[in-house]
Amino acid sequence: MKPLKLKAKLLYLLLLVGFGLVVVGLIGYFNIQNIKKNLDTLYFGSLLPLSELNAINAAYHNNLASSIYQWNNKLISDEHVSNKIVESLEQINHLWASYTSHHKRPEEIAYVTYTGEQIQHVADYFIQVRSLINDPVRSHPLSLITMDENIQSIQHTLQQLIAYENAAAKYEHAQLLAQYQNALVQLFLFLGVILSLVMGLAWMIFSRIEIQQQQLIESSETLKHLNFKLEQASYTDSLTSLYNRRYFNIVYEREFKRAIRSNRPFVFMMLDIDFFKQYNDTYGHLQGDLALQTVAKILKTTLQRPGDYPFRLGGEEFGVILTDIDCKNARIMGEKVRASIEHLKIEHKGSKILPTLSVSIGGVCIVPTVDMSEDALIHTADTNLYAAKERGRNQIVFSNKL
Ligand code: GH3
Ligand code: MG
Ligand code: MG
Repeated sequence: MKPLKLKAKLLYLLLLVGFGLVVVGLIGYFNIQNIKKNLDTLYFGSLLPLSELNAINAAYHNNLASSIYQWNNKLISDEHVSNKIVESLEQINHLWASYTSHHKRPEEIAYVTYTGEQIQHVADYFIQVRSLINDPVRSHPLSLITMDENIQSIQHTLQQLIAYENAAAKYEHAQLLAQYQNALVQLFLFLGVILSLVMGLAWMIFSRIEIQQQQLIESSETLKHLNFKLEQASYTDSLTSLYNRRYFNIVYEREFKRAIRSNRPFVFMMLDIDFFKQYNDTYGHLQGDLALQTVAKILKTTLQRPGDYPFRLGGEEFGVILTDIDCKNARIMGEKVRASIEHLKIEHKGSKILPTLSVSIGGVCIVPTVDMSEDALIHTADTNLYAAKERGRNQIVFSNKL
């Protein structure tokens, strides 16, 4: 398992998400800036100039030409028309100055200059018209045809510029749309890439977590199993596979207390092989070990209930704790063990009481009370075992009191 690697991967994931957000923000920001720039170009470069050109056109037609026609039809005075001419020329000059102040594309500069000259030319013409009107002698008559020609000519020139600005506005608009679409494509493309990367990385991390979880479960199972085996080993006597002295100490204390609490009989028996020293001397130590295993097997097969605990206490001495039984039956069980060993008829020439292997048993059965010492029971069982030996061995001495 490599938790550090997993942490690093999670960090990458977060960094990737953060990086993605920053880049999406930057893309959005730059595109919005660009779109704003293009909008400005569209407005100031084409739409505003267009309206100014239209206003100039209207000033020629509505202000200049129409006031001269009104004067000609004697609808307005000399002074009035003279003022109108000055006013209109000033208005046109003002509009033209504003128009030329906007950014001009290189290809239109020549035509703008030309239009400017034409406007100046027409202005000069109308200044002459004004002097003519103001001339009290009226040396030259005013030709309306010439005036119309001048107006038409300048309006024609302006129309060309208007047509150009119109086309430019359409072009700018198309550019703006293209830019907008481009920004959208860029954004979705980038989002797609980031999303795929994030999903890929997340998938990697989660499958890694799953594998590690599986490994963890397997390790903990193995550990549990090993623990169980270790515990078993530490409580088991290696020669006979019976519970050992260490486990006896635990079970004895536990079951003794349980018997006090539940007010039930507690049985303890000690079993010792008769003349075992001689057995070893006669048949050898290895054969002696086999005899110990045989006795253990009898104990295991005879005492099989969940409340029965046979132990090897050490050497050729065994102990038995019985919990779920009454005193009468406990004694019977002890007798059964003794008899079973005798019935095996294992040759024992060194025994002074029988030609075969036998055991002596000292047992005690009591309903223990809190004031009772745990050791007292062991002592009684030991005394009974000694008595069994004294009385001729191959027998059980069992008491129901301390
Ligand atoms: P008694 O009838 O009075 O019990 O006589 P005993 O000879 O059985 O008693 P004693 O205590 O004198 O002898 C016990 C013998 O058990 C001594 C020892 O050699 C033998 N013994 C103890 N542990 C083992 C063992 O693990 N394997 C073998 N083969 N013999 C053992
Ligand atoms: Mg002994
Ligand atoms: Mg013995």
